[in-house]
Amino acid sequence: MRIDLHTHSRVSDGTQPPAELVRAAVAARLDVVAITDHDTTAGWDEAAAAAVDAGVGLVRGIEVSTRFRGRGVHLLAYLPDPADPALVRELGRILEGRDQRVPAMLERLRDLGIADATEEALAEVTADAAATGRPHVADLLVRLGVVADRGQAFAEYLADGRPAYVDRYATDLVEMLQVVTEARGVPVVAHPWGRGSAEVLDDDAFGRLAEAGLFGIEVDHLDHGPRERGRLREVAGRLGLVVTGSSDHHGTGKTNHDLGCNTTAPRHLERILARAADLGSPTALVGERRGAA
Ligand code: AMP
Ligand code: ZN
Ligand code: FE
Ligand code: FE
Repeated sequence: MRIDLHTHSRVSDGTQPPAELVRAAVAARLDVVAITDHDTTAGWDEAAAAAVDAGVGLVRGIEVSTRFRGRGVHLLAYLPDPADPALVRELGRILEGRDQRVPAMLERLRDLGIADATEEALAEVTADAAATGRPHVADLLVRLGVVADRGQAFAEYLADGRPAYVDRYATDLVEMLQVVTEARGVPVVAHPWGRGSAEVLDDDAFGRLAEAGLFGIEVDHLDHGPRERGRLREVAGRLGLVVTGSSDHHGTGKTNHDLGCNTTAPRHLERILARAADLGSPTALVGERRGAA
């Protein structure tokens, strides 16, 4: 059974519409796929309809932008109630922060001499995205011929500390663990030892986060090498947390992150599904799990 619990569609910074993402999951021989766009559930319904049609299990989730000890941490929230008022309010704040940041970044780029970095030009790149982000600005820079790809755009302009970087609002991680749990969702920390968050997520931090409701750790992710994966597995084992693996697929927006390049063991998915059911979540797995016995 092949299970991939972290992917993005064009609703955030992936490049495929949700339905196409789901069909690509079938083509990649996945039995279960999660859609986890940044800070929005806007792709859920289209993905769910496609999953039922295509015959693949779909876990509906969100990759929430949070902050912990001054660093950005991504929190995967699986199967929450999408209408939960506190969750809706907090995601709204984050999306507002995203929308405010974009014009500020474009202004920086124009100040740097890139005159065509306008909101009109960006609108062509963001298309139907509910969550706009730096990858969209990166795509604009590619389109304008300023850089070759997203990676170069981050390295030269958009990464923290580069000249067009602008900070934005993100919810405190401990607060978001509570919001997600009260929305009857299951929180799993995404690529904890990837860019930025490695320094602040030490053993002590994981202990505190587990007490605050963290349910799992995304261990098998391209941001982690074999050594990190081994150590994160130990941390998860010690704290009784589930271990997930996923591609963090972004369509053609991120190279190497092919669907199913990392996967989650079925027993860990079962624990996530059982937890959401225990919490009384109205959101469950939809579509047929092809590998299900
Ligand atoms: P944002 O949420 O708008 O701040 O953008 C963060 C997104 O940009 C994440 O989903 C990352 O996948 C992507 N990202 C961050 N740093 C880089 C980088 N150096 N190269 C390519 N993509 C990046
Ligand atoms: Zn992304
Ligand atoms: Fe992420
Ligand atoms: Fe992601």
